[in-house]
Amino acid sequence: MSILVFVETDEGKVKKSSLEAVSYAAAMGDEVIALAFGTVDSAELAATGKNGANKVLHVSDSKLDQGNIQAYATGIAAAMESTGSSILVLAKSSLGDPVSARVAIKVGASLASNVTSLPDTSDGFKVTRSIYTGKAFANVSLNGDKKIIAIKKNAVDLKEDGGDAAVEAFSPEIPDSDFGVTITSQEKATGDVLLPEADIVVSGGRGLKGPENWGMIEELAKLLGAATGCSKPVSDVGWRPHHEHVGQTGVKVSPTLYVAVGISGAIQHLAGVNSSKVIVVINKDAEAPFFKAADYGIAGDAFEVVPKLIEALKSAN
Ligand SMILES: Cc1cc2nc3c(=O)[nH]c(=O)nc-3n(C[C@H](O)[C@H](O)[C@H](O)COP(=O)(O)OP(=O)(O)OC[C@H]3O[C@@H](n4cnc5c(N)ncnc54)[C@H](O)[C@@H]3O)c2cc1C
Repeated sequence: MSILVFVETDEGKVKKSSLEAVSYAAAMGDEVIALAFGTVDSAELAATGKNGANKVLHVSDSKLDQGNIQAYATGIAAAMESTGSSILVLAKSSLGDPVSARVAIKVGASLASNVTSLPDTSDGFKVTRSIYTGKAFANVSLNGDKKIIAIKKNAVDLKEDGGDAAVEAFSPEIPDSDFGVTITSQEKATGDVLLPEADIVVSGGRGLKGPENWGMIEELAKLLGAATGCSKPVSDVGWRPHHEHVGQTGVKVSPTLYVAVGISGAIQHLAGVNSSKVIVVINKDAEAPFFKAADYGIAGDAFEVVPKLIEALKSAN
C-alpha cells in the first residue's frame, strides 16, 4: 500500500510543514508518494526523499502555480486513484484546509485535521487531534476505506536521513471549470516573512508604548529571519497593521520560536501562539501571565533587553 502526500510549495520551495507531512507518512512505514503542483525544480522535489518520500509525482503545469484549490483537489483525487493510495497526508494550512475538504468529498474519505499523533491501528484507525486552539486533545477514529490526515505544524520531527526520490511527471485531467478564480496580481504584506507561515515570529505589545518604537522589533525580526506580529490592542489603535494581530481573533501561528516583547499574555493572545515550539517572553513585570506559558523568560525592560539582543546577534553573525 502507498500513502500519498500533498506537498505545498512557495516560490519554488517545498514548505517545511509539507516536509513534516512527508516525514509523518514515512513513519507510518508504507511507500510514500509525494505530489506537487506548479513550477518547482525537480531537484527540490527529489530532495523530499531525504524526508522519506520514495517517489514524487509532479504536475508541472504553470497554470497550477497559484494554489488553485479546486484544481489541486481534482489532481489529488486522480493521484489517489492512479496510485491506489487510500491514505492522503498533508499539512494543515490555509491552503490544505479547503483542498482536503474537497478531496474528502470527491473520494468519500474520512478526514481528521490538526493531527498530532501517528495512527494507532491496534483497534481500528485512531489519531489524536489538537482542539480548542491547543488547549485540549481529541482522540478520533477514522472509519471507512479512505482517510485524510492533515497534520498540525511542528507536531512531527523532520526525518532527514533518506536519499533523493525519483520524480515522475503526472498529468491528471483537470477541467477548465476548476480554474473559476485566478489571481491577477499579488502584493506582499509588510515584512519579508509572511506571518502565518513564519518559522520565527517576533511580536510586540502595548508595553512598547507607541509605533515609533517598532524599529527595534523589526531589526530583531530581520536578524532572526522572522516575521513581525503584535497583540490586538496594538493593531486596534493602528500602531501596526491588522494582518499582524496574533491571537484568538487574529492570526494563529505555529512557529519554532515565538518571541513576545511587552505583551501581557492574555488568554486571547495565547490562543494564537500556544502551538509554538519555543516561547520567549520579555516583560518588565515578572508576574506577567505570559511567563507561565514561556520556555524562556527575561524579566526586564524591553528598551534595554531588545537592543542588547540585537547587539549580541549582530556580533554572533
Ligand atoms: C473577545 C476578545 C478577543 C480578543 N482577541 C485578542 C487577540 O486575538 N489577540 C490579542 O493579543 N488580544 C486579544 N484580546 C485582548 C486581550 O484580552 C488583551 O487585552 C491583549 O492581548 C493585551 O495586549 P498587550 O499584552 O499588548 O497589552 P497589555 O495587557 O497592556 O500588556 C502590556 C504588557 O507590557 C508590559 N510592559 C510595559 N512596559 C514594558 C517595557 N518597557 N518592557 C517590557 N514589558 C513592558 C507590561 O508589564 C504588560 O504585561 C481579545 C479580547 C477579547 C475580549
